[in-house]
Amino acid sequence: MATESTHGWSDGTRCVHAGESTVVGGPLLAGPTFAAPYRLGETEYYYGRADNPTWRALESALGELDGGEAVLFSSGMAAITTVLRGVLKQGDTLVVPADGYYLVRAYVRDELAGLDLDVRAVPTAGSWHDAVRGAGFVLLETPSNPGLDVCDIEAIARAAHAEGALVAVDNTTATPLGQRPLHLGADLVVCSDTKAVAGHSDLVLGHVSTRDDQLLARLRAGRTAGGAVPGAFEAWLAHRGLGTLDLRLERQASNAAALYEALREYPDVCGLRWPGSPHDPAHEIASKQMDRFGGVLSFELPSEAAVNSVLANSRVLTDATSFGGLHTTLDRRTRWGDPVPEGFVRLSAGCENAADLVADLRAALDASTW
Ligand SMILES: *Cc1c(COP(=O)(O)O)cnc(C)c1O
Repeated sequence: MATESTHGWSDGTRCVHAGESTVVGGPLLAGPTFAAPYRLGETEYYYGRADNPTWRALESALGELDGGEAVLFSSGMAAITTVLRGVLKQGDTLVVPADGYYLVRAYVRDELAGLDLDVRAVPTAGSWHDAVRGAGFVLLETPSNPGLDVCDIEAIARAAHAEGALVAVDNTTATPLGQRPLHLGADLVVCSDTKAVAGHSDLVLGHVSTRDDQLLARLRAGRTAGGAVPGAFEAWLAHRGLGTLDLRLERQASNAAALYEALREYPDVCGLRWPGSPHDPAHEIASKQMDRFGGVLSFELPSEAAVNSVLANSRVLTDATSFGGLHTTLDRRTRWGDPVPEGFVRLSAGCENAADLVADLRAALDASTW
């Protein structure tokens, strides 16, 4: 598939054109190719578990946005676990965020127990420089999900590399437009494209990007042998969604800013976080390494009952997990096992209008009792 580089363009232009087809007489974005075996000949395609042109188009787009080469997976977890299985050796020291995506820690504990890893869980806002001593692999997640703490990718990557460790960053919350970890020194960037990248709450997908050819080959081989392959239709839908990522993030971030300001007025709302605000404790470091902020906020209400009451009194807030979609959602995180208080919620600002969201949230908070 012929594609043009989007180098030098701004985000909106890059999102529209990254990975596009330039075949004359063809559609602007090639439709999904559905194939198990391919007719063999002078081509790299032979079997649908090994490769697919619809994956390649989206990989080319995501790789360009990340500043490396991308490998697509059937989910964010498939991307992360293929990395872990591909790089970790018996007895390695693995450093992971204590407050990052909960399933990663569960996977390491339950599925990689046989590797006898020395697993160090470090809070994202904690002291990584001590934690990376002797490490073989360091996974960062910044901003962390769901707490939205931020760590300095460049500084930690430098310290980890001095120890000979590989560094990966889970970039799901930031998105490829919000932050470019490969430019900041990371060896790998992983992302759940289920969230803002695909953006329409209708598919599960993930990817890894790197500039290291050996890692790239290992990831492709791990995907082919492990079988964590995406469907062509999901890859195509995600590519279609990627075209509006810049627009959607812009709306989500301005909605998040408006909701943040409204929430600040409520004394019962504690620990309000959105790294995009100058009032946020992570704002300084976030502004240094991030190009833009997304629509995810977190805060704490006094109890589980308080969260349920706000949801019951809201017309627009959707009671659902995940984030980065068109709908504004509110997710109480202890139901998934996150180590946070009962009333802790993650709010994902969607693409509705700020005035409606703010009026609705105010009305819901004012009508709630706890
Ligand atoms: C959702 C998420 C994942 C897992 O991605 P799936 O696509 O659901 O498998 C990993 N990391 C972070 C930060 C996430 O938010």
